[in-house]
Amino acid sequence: MNSEVKSSGQTSCPYCGVGCGVDAQIKNGTITSVSGSINHPANKGKLCVKGSSLHETLGVQGRLLYPKMAGVRTDWDSALDHVSASLKDIISKHGPNSVALYLSGQLLTEDYYVANKLMKGFVGTANVDTNSRLCMASAVAGYKRAFGSDTVPCNYEDLELCDLLIIIGANPAWAHPILFQRISAAKVARPQMKIVVIDPRKSATCEIADLHLQLKAGSDAFLFSGLLNYISSKRAVDADFVEQHTEGFELALAEARAFDLETTAETTRLDIADVEQFFKWYIRTPKTVSFYSQGINQSATGTDKCNAIINCHLATGRIGFEGAGPFSITGQPNAMGGREVGGLANQLAAHMDFDDASIDRVARFWRAPRMAKEPGLKAVDLFDAIHSGEVKAVWIMATNPAVSLPNSQKVREALDKCELVIVSDCIEHTDTNAYADILLPATGWSEKDGTVTNSDRTISRQRALLKPAGEAKHDWWIISEVAKRLGFEADFAYANPQQIFIEHAALSAFENDGTRDFDIGGLAQLSEQQYNELQAIQWPVNAQNPNGCKRMFTDHRFFTDSGKARFLSCEPRLPERPIDFQTPFTLNTGRLRDQWHTMTRTGRTSTLLSHSRTPTVSINPRDAQSLGIREGDLVHVFNKDEQEQHQSLTLAVQLDEGIAYENIFIPIHWSQQFTSNAIVSKLIAPTTDPYSGQPESKFARVGIRPIMIPLWVSIVSRKPIDTSSFEFWVKTPVPGGWHYLLADSNSQDESIWRKWMTELQDGLKKVELSNTVLHDYRSLGCSGKSIEIAIFANPQRSKLPEVIWQQALLNHQVGADTWHLLTEKQNNSISQNRIICSCFQISEQQITTAIAQGAASTKELGKKLHCGTNCGSCIPELKKFIRDSKENSTVEFESI
Ligand code: SF4
Repeated sequence: MNSEVKSSGQTSCPYCGVGCGVDAQIKNGTITSVSGSINHPANKGKLCVKGSSLHETLGVQGRLLYPKMAGVRTDWDSALDHVSASLKDIISKHGPNSVALYLSGQLLTEDYYVANKLMKGFVGTANVDTNSRLCMASAVAGYKRAFGSDTVPCNYEDLELCDLLIIIGANPAWAHPILFQRISAAKVARPQMKIVVIDPRKSATCEIADLHLQLKAGSDAFLFSGLLNYISSKRAVDADFVEQHTEGFELALAEARAFDLETTAETTRLDIADVEQFFKWYIRTPKTVSFYSQGINQSATGTDKCNAIINCHLATGRIGFEGAGPFSITGQPNAMGGREVGGLANQLAAHMDFDDASIDRVARFWRAPRMAKEPGLKAVDLFDAIHSGEVKAVWIMATNPAVSLPNSQKVREALDKCELVIVSDCIEHTDTNAYADILLPATGWSEKDGTVTNSDRTISRQRALLKPAGEAKHDWWIISEVAKRLGFEADFAYANPQQIFIEHAALSAFENDGTRDFDIGGLAQLSEQQYNELQAIQWPVNAQNPNGCKRMFTDHRFFTDSGKARFLSCEPRLPERPIDFQTPFTLNTGRLRDQWHTMTRTGRTSTLLSHSRTPTVSINPRDAQSLGIREGDLVHVFNKDEQEQHQSLTLAVQLDEGIAYENIFIPIHWSQQFTSNAIVSKLIAPTTDPYSGQPESKFARVGIRPIMIPLWVSIVSRKPIDTSSFEFWVKTPVPGGWHYLLADSNSQDESIWRKWMTELQDGLKKVELSNTVLHDYRSLGCSGKSIEIAIFANPQRSKLPEVIWQQALLNHQVGADTWHLLTEKQNNSISQNRIICSCFQISEQQITTAIAQGAASTKELGKKLHCGTNCGSCIPELKKFIRDSKENSTVEFESI
């Protein structure tokens, strides 16, 4: 592939499970801009702010460019020889279960397939798990229990075609923005379509809701058990469907009978009238979609919650037709592809499990010498086994478990103790890479070549548009080279991803005959050219569905032994950890609008950081008042485990009326690459769902302790500076350099700060303003005509300048009047400084000013400020500002 001759290319977005098509413009081997692919069924020409900024995240800076062993650059042959010799040695001494792979929903299906085949067919262990365990394992288990297969019945059109959309434990306005825009547009076109949001947090998604049920954290299964009981009591059961196509109804109903309206409202802490309104809408509306995500899945009872939702669809026969079905949305771009190949430790391959017939079938297809015979260790158990020494080697690909897994301190200890840690990644410095014995540079988005499957079963090509950076290699190639060195040359002699894909497609069809849902046998004969030109298509793709399949279960036949769907009888349970006086708050976690996972990619561009540049804890203003804390203050958020051990984070307070009393919200993204102490998984206990093994990442009991800060410092510098000695630091990129926000409760002695700030400017010409009474310090360090560093310090954080203003100082030419710059800085309240529209860098203050001056709709705001006119990701927040400004009036739904 010669990148120099390409001027454009079509590919897909590497972030969320929506799986948008992306058109890239290429010049001189660089992607200069991106836009949504008009013909892609997921996004039809649109991209959210993350997708729109993809080209800004590229470049070699920060990339892992060469293989490294013990931190020293080496060549590929030496690295691969060492990996395979070390694995061979450990396996020969301790058996196949002493080694493990930990994969990622960022990998392409072809990478996943080769990794799974090597371990489960040739090494002989199923110790292959993936970070998708943290995202949707409960949804998989729920579907399998109900349908006998891991089948998403719906497609994205159903979200637009339904008459009642129930969004449960999901914030698509921020986490799946293009789907949210499609839903918003459908609501504008058909205002009679009802939208109910079920979430303990009033998120941006609630801007389009007819009803928000702000239920008690973790009580979702009570609500859906109550709904099942209500469906029965109002004679709304589809008796024919239940009789002919399901089993287990009576048992499930018997369990649900405990939940009449009053009990349901009481247990969920909802207003009984709201619960009844929701139930009435449900029984009256055949075209109902239940759309759910991590708020359901990330729970110790996540699988039961999924089945409580599915039970209601089965009771009313709402599955297998347009605008109806239980629809789990995945977080990651290729979580579904991972599920298809068997990337979870409890799956074998191609939607087959560890039953004897499947093991035999896959063994014959692969000609595998050493098949794994039983499921392997799921993520949390896997890292426990690394900690205990049972697993002695782990190969981590494209993921950051030191940040994302619960009880991350123990995960770090495990990696530290592990005999052999191999990491394949495209980024050089991550929290996990710090523990690697061997680092292998992998290709990243724009270089990778293969397929991904999004949340509605659509397989899309992710295409290589640029040459790999440095010596980076594709993951499938790296795994295959290790496999060859382990003695499996003939079975891993792949020359390109097309050869892997057609083998994967052929396995899906092998002895299938309609017995398994996942069948893409219709793609098993693709030539290399056809593969390269493959357009988005929804599986299954086979003789019955040569052009793919929009909707599953239209014939009401399921993949259970009886062919009938199963009701599951679930006893709802609340999270078990009790409140005590030290830890009275319930922690919820989730995504920010403009960030992705642990920010290894989205943290590379200032555009995506401008919406939220500081690690925060969101809290209801009344709770903040009772703690004596204000917007922007620093606090410790701490937990307490069974051994009374505390872990704590250092975060800035963000007031949010959408957070219920005695609840708080902390984003999942921050790592030690960006800030001193904000990894929320430190506070999460490793409690998992018994069926899915998914951790309860959305729940912990925590306390909050204010921190007194004598002096805040804001620095913009062209060069990175060492801030590791500070109690609180945040480092984020800005155009031309870095921004730092610093604070330390121990530094009462201002002279220590002054000395440190003076040393930072060693060798530079200083322009200073200092007010010793107000303890205000401002300084520019200059070299020739260039400002190299700008430092502002003040006891009040709100007196520091806006980052956007401060970063612009790097563009000024030094002259006689440079000192004027230090007197011009703007002081605003912290929330007003917040950038709302990342595309045009429009702040909250500009927006509220425009509204005060008469802008009464998002269109008028767009006309005045351009905000919301590009990707549309900020529109829910713009609507909220307009709504807040017109107390007691409603906002008309507007098209996005
Ligand atoms: Fe990418 Fe945004 Fe589309 Fe998700 S919604 S796939 S992040 S462009």
